[in-house]
Amino acid sequence: MEIVLASYYGRDFDNIFKLLVKKLKCKFPIKLRTLNQIEIDKINKNILQCDESVYAICVTEHNIKNNKITKAIIYIVRKLPKLFAEHLLLHELAHLIQKGGDKSPHGYRWGEAYAKVYNIYIGKDIRKK
Ligand SMILES: [Zn+2]
Repeated sequence: MEIVLASYYGRDFDNIFKLLVKKLKCKFPIKLRTLNQIEIDKINKNILQCDESVYAICVTEHNIKNNKITKAIIYIVRKLPKLFAEHLLLHELAHLIQKGGDKSPHGYRWGEAYAKVYNIYIGKDIRKK
């Protein structure tokens, strides 16, 4: 599994990302990047066809045959409070591991996935490593 670290938010942040990805047992590589707001908005508009300004997004590539994710990049805006950035990371990871889609982007399935990510985040005390 390939992991590219964000570094911008520091080693603790990177370690949380690394540990979450490991414990979630994702079957595809996930990269984490930090960018300025303008760059994130550009990706959101060009790739995801969304005009909204957001603090974080994940962009995925899929296998044409089974529509499964083959790789993902999580983008998080720079200059945010670190704890906020951490929770955005949990939020986006939940999108990547959720089983199937919901009618709304943050429906039941996303909620279930978020709970899983969050439990790892708080339950294993990963910051003390
Ligand atoms: Zn979301």
